[in-house]
Amino acid sequence: MSAPLHVVLVGSGPAGFYAAAALLAAGEPEVRVDVIERLPTPWGLVRSGVAPDHPKIKSVADTFAQIAAHERFRWYGNVHLGRDVTREELLQRYDAVVYALGAQTDRRLGVPGEELAGSVAATDVVGWYNGHPDYSDLTLLLDGARAVVVGNGNVALDVARMLCTDVAELNRTDTADHALDVLAASAVREVLVVGRRGPAQAAFTTLELRELGDLAGVDVVVEPAGVLDVPEDELPRAVRRNLDALRDLAARPPTPGARRLVFRFLRSPVELRGDGHVQQVVLGCNHLVPDETGRFLARDTGEREVVDAALVVRSVGYLGVPVEGLPFDPVAGHIPHEQGQVVGHEREYVVGWIKRGPTGVIGTNKKDARETVQRLLADLAGEGARDTGVDRPERLEQWLRGKQPELVSDLGWQAIDEVERRAGHRQGRPRVKLVRTRDLLAAMRDHDHR
Ligand code: NAP
Repeated sequence: MSAPLHVVLVGSGPAGFYAAAALLAAGEPEVRVDVIERLPTPWGLVRSGVAPDHPKIKSVADTFAQIAAHERFRWYGNVHLGRDVTREELLQRYDAVVYALGAQTDRRLGVPGEELAGSVAATDVVGWYNGHPDYSDLTLLLDGARAVVVGNGNVALDVARMLCTDVAELNRTDTADHALDVLAASAVREVLVVGRRGPAQAAFTTLELRELGDLAGVDVVVEPAGVLDVPEDELPRAVRRNLDALRDLAARPPTPGARRLVFRFLRSPVELRGDGHVQQVVLGCNHLVPDETGRFLARDTGEREVVDAALVVRSVGYLGVPVEGLPFDPVAGHIPHEQGQVVGHEREYVVGWIKRGPTGVIGTNKKDARETVQRLLADLAGEGARDTGVDRPERLEQWLRGKQPELVSDLGWQAIDEVERRAGHRQGRPRVKLVRTRDLLAAMRDHDHR
């Protein structure tokens, strides 16, 4: 039997875990997988992206925990690529490096006033209500009667739903405590979801639309009148299902005193106005024009509408961040690759959103990871492991600890997990999240000293 290969994965969201599972399933040579993660916690967007009122989706973390229990898998948190370790160092020590970095920033609207206070990215809001340490200090002012969410994807729906949902419901979830406090005091009565194209072009999915009908105390409104009257013969089934869901929602009788979740289609924000803080959004009205492929594009009619709003959340897509020394496509926001192998870089691979851009659901990463891992194994076949020292795994851990003394091991994460779950149990919630790196590390240290 040949010596095992040692592969390091950078990032431990769904793409990282599915890549780990595919690597661990390899037969001969076997693969040992080390994962380094910049946060003291694993699971990426499953912990800090999936909305807290979607616990079923979050339960995929149980699968990740099973993968993490494999004897050839190790996880190390609080290790930053570029700060604590470099690509070159990883390449010296491992047979291959797989980047599972996700898409760590947001796309911008590029309109005047976008820098005003009260104009925020959905990626930040999502991180904030999910207790991601990078966003825990975000100040989200919910003191105006109307919030505008720009974009027609599932993230826009998540944010709109979180802003509308009765906080008594959210008190049963793992929504971060700081967000629960702000949401409890919210003055928002209407969330306006703005799509630049029509309902037939929207990116959200039917399940997520239908779910809006279950929100207690929320009326769903669809504008402008007649926008749902589109000829359906040629439309794909998924689109017809979305239109049906919107019609059903719009047909419900209004409830006096309810919050309103309003879909306004064929509108693009062209300016945010306000004195230091967003007060108004100027919307340009669009009509649809087919391009040469038959895809409908939004075109400005020149008409304008002005709406009062104190909060504008742009939810127009995530964006990957370049890795120093690797190629990057700034338009698509991903690392160019061939079946997952980084173009021009032997022994370096990508999976997930940094590979294909921010599309697809959690399960999409399974197939995506399999492609990359097949390519990796084929590339390394016959090359053999780069170093066959029997104590190599231990040396790697020692080396990592030298680089980051506050390394969080899988045991450290289990200690954090236990603290959060115990606190959650007392309140009838899945967990109470620790939202600051120092508190997460303290929970780990307390365990180490027991
Ligand atoms: P998305 O699905 O790509 O949607 C982005 C939206 O932004 C589209 O409606 C797009 O409109 C719009 N947009 C882009 N640029 C714009 C601009 N300059 N002005 C106005 N609108 C603009 O992205 P996402 O919502 O961030 O979601 C990312 C991925 O995660 C998706 O695959 C999504 O399904 C998935 N996700 C799934 C769930 C779930 O399963 N429950 C939850 C959250 C996220 P155009 O179509 O006109 O470009």
